[in-house]
Amino acid sequence: MAQVFAYLTHSNGVLDDAALELATAAKAISSSPATAIVAGHGVDAVAASAASIFEKVIKVDHAALSYPNAEVVRKALVAVIPQGSVVLFAHSTFSMDCAPGLSIKLGASFVADIVGIEGVEGSSLKVVRQELGGEVSTHVDVDISAGSVVAVRPGTFAPDEGKGAQGSVTDRSADLGDLSCERKFIEVQTPEAGDVDITKAEILISIGRGIEDEENIQLAMELKEAIGKGAEVSCSRPIVDAKWLEATRQVGTSGCTVKPKVYLACGISGSFQHMGGIKGGYIVAINKNPNAPIFQVADVGVVANIVEFLPVLTEKIASL
Ligand SMILES: Cc1cc2nc3c(=O)[nH]c(=O)nc-3n(C[C@H](O)[C@H](O)[C@H](O)COP(=O)(O)OP(=O)(O)OC[C@H]3O[C@@H](n4cnc5c(N)ncnc54)[C@H](O)[C@@H]3O)c2cc1C
Repeated sequence: MAQVFAYLTHSNGVLDDAALELATAAKAISSSPATAIVAGHGVDAVAASAASIFEKVIKVDHAALSYPNAEVVRKALVAVIPQGSVVLFAHSTFSMDCAPGLSIKLGASFVADIVGIEGVEGSSLKVVRQELGGEVSTHVDVDISAGSVVAVRPGTFAPDEGKGAQGSVTDRSADLGDLSCERKFIEVQTPEAGDVDITKAEILISIGRGIEDEENIQLAMELKEAIGKGAEVSCSRPIVDAKWLEATRQVGTSGCTVKPKVYLACGISGSFQHMGGIKGGYIVAINKNPNAPIFQVADVGVVANIVEFLPVLTEKIASL
């Protein structure tokens, strides 16, 4: 069986939660321990965190890796990953930038945005993807005879809380060859703080395109008032694009990452860009389409029209 590697992303010295999900995905592919790869500059603490999840960690440390420039990271990965390996990424804009080229460099197959692994049969890795916005699941046989690069949709594998691995970290920085590249990193621009900080809320009432009309946003605000302290209103990107709510309330890969106790997804389909911003909590999905993809990840699902459902819920909570 091919050796499995997991490329782990991190920011501000903290490993992204997807590391735990990649550990679960790796176990679904091979019973042999997977090797995590941490690339960056001054990443000893991140590599140590990775070693609490994975038995084997490769660290590559170089000033050119300070910012995750896909072109540079790809060169670093090619330097340390043997051909014939299965390499896992968390599916993201970064992975779409880095992983396809890596598969070409390694002469391996590539599959993006998988939501499930059904197992390995011979040289075939059987994975599940979603098509047509999640309406259809496709079962894909990936030829891994020459290795494969696989991007796993965040939020679709349970985090591997593990047994608290006491892994070893191997420093392969000396093996990095030339990391020069055409693409230059300029700066990180942090968004201005808005009037609300949805990342601190314990309960998020999150509204999506299903709210239908700007006027109906008031229904979510009224529910927030009824719940009281700890509750806040957040949203999916189309609501920000329509300028119905400010960008600081957007949850997702290009918005905020949130970890509330309860996440009420109201009229949200469950795109991976949206779900990628939810890092925990009990998800209650309210959607009028019983086949909406969000129901696959929700802890509780309610098939209802939110415009009718939200006022009833507000009234019930207010009467408690
Ligand atoms: C590079 C990139 C980055 C992105 N980043 C983000 C991001 O950070 N966050 C984000 O959210 N999106 C992001 N997106 C957009 C993302 O791809 C989806 O388009 C978006 O998440 C869909 O939002 P939605 O679920 O509200 O809308 P839709 O996908 O249109 O879903 C609306 C849902 O509401 C349901 N519905 C309709 N009417 C009602 C009703 N009356 N009652 C109940 N249910 C109803 C429908 O059945 C449907 O499931 C990004 C896209 C790209 C390309």
